[in-house]
Amino acid sequence: MVRNVIIIGTGPAGFTAALYASRANLNPLIFEGSQPGGQLTITTDVENYPGFPDGIMGPELMDKFRSQAKKFGAEVLNLHIDKVDFSSPIFKIWAGEKEFSAHSIIISTGATAKLLGLDSEKKLMGYGVSACATCDGFFFKDKNVFVVGGGDSAMEEATFLTKFASKVTILHRRDTFRASKIMQDKVFKNNKIDVMWNTNVIDMIGDPDKNGLEAVEVENTISNVKTKIDCEGLFLGIGHKPNSDIFENQIDLNKTGYIITKNGSTQTSVSGVFAAGDIMDPVYRQAVTAAGTGCMAALDAEKYLEHLHV
Ligand code: NAP
Repeated sequence: MVRNVIIIGTGPAGFTAALYASRANLNPLIFEGSQPGGQLTITTDVENYPGFPDGIMGPELMDKFRSQAKKFGAEVLNLHIDKVDFSSPIFKIWAGEKEFSAHSIIISTGATAKLLGLDSEKKLMGYGVSACATCDGFFFKDKNVFVVGGGDSAMEEATFLTKFASKVTILHRRDTFRASKIMQDKVFKNNKIDVMWNTNVIDMIGDPDKNGLEAVEVENTISNVKTKIDCEGLFLGIGHKPNSDIFENQIDLNKTGYIITKNGSTQTSVSGVFAAGDIMDPVYRQAVTAAGTGCMAALDAEKYLEHLHV
């Protein structure tokens, strides 16, 4: 059966697209992927999603998105799409051996936390090294932890970690943060947080089979002096990579891997394939902007299907 619309990814963009597409009687099929609900499911309090003046927990918000889309008939499958073929107007996608096809596709696969790329980081990931403070912060009660980065993610992680850790040190490679002023102010006002400026992490020391991470080796970017510091937890808050690997050679991506869409629409370089949320938005990356582009993608797909007369 060729579906009207298939949506790949279930963050705020995917579920909003599913809500609009189902209300337009397009009977959408939506694939959850490896992180059902997207990045908000690994967040705690969401205080900036309109309509929730007292804030809402990320996972609860995504449950609401999911039930609202399902209420209007969206079909949700817990499968990870690992291959696509957009070369003919009936688009094909695969989850392992299972093939699905559709007249239109909405891509909302989001983005994933970036890593530093050190061998020791790979070895110690989950053993004192983490890319998600909200997922793992609880395990660092009364510990001395470090956060890498100077953007909003790093500020958010550091502030969150002070709920558990005895001390949090931010390691930043420059001498100013790029984070928003309000997030920086929170950090500077918090007496549990210290900052080490002009500092790069060059190694992580520890044994996953023993105590996990025990120290971090840093290098001052000005003096080039290398220092080993005792460290019980290290959190990476250095940004995100768009989840677009399977779309390479199928649609146009920019040089950092974000899907390129036509100005003012969600249309990709392939007619009938649309993109919404963090996968096409390296700038705003908010739940509410993702939901907005999800809505746009469903409306764009609806218009496209009308022209196809399917
Ligand atoms: P970002 O703004 O790109 O910041 C990444 C930070 O990590 C930068 O400070 C960067 O250093 C540093 N960095 C990157 N690669 C590094 C490496 N290999 N080694 C050491 N440091 C490295 O990413 P983000 O903080 O994830 O924020 C992305 C977007 O999401 C922003 O628009 C932000 O406003 C938004 N956001 C908002 C909230 C919120 O409002 N609650 C929370 C999180 C994110 P340099 O500064 O030297 O480049």
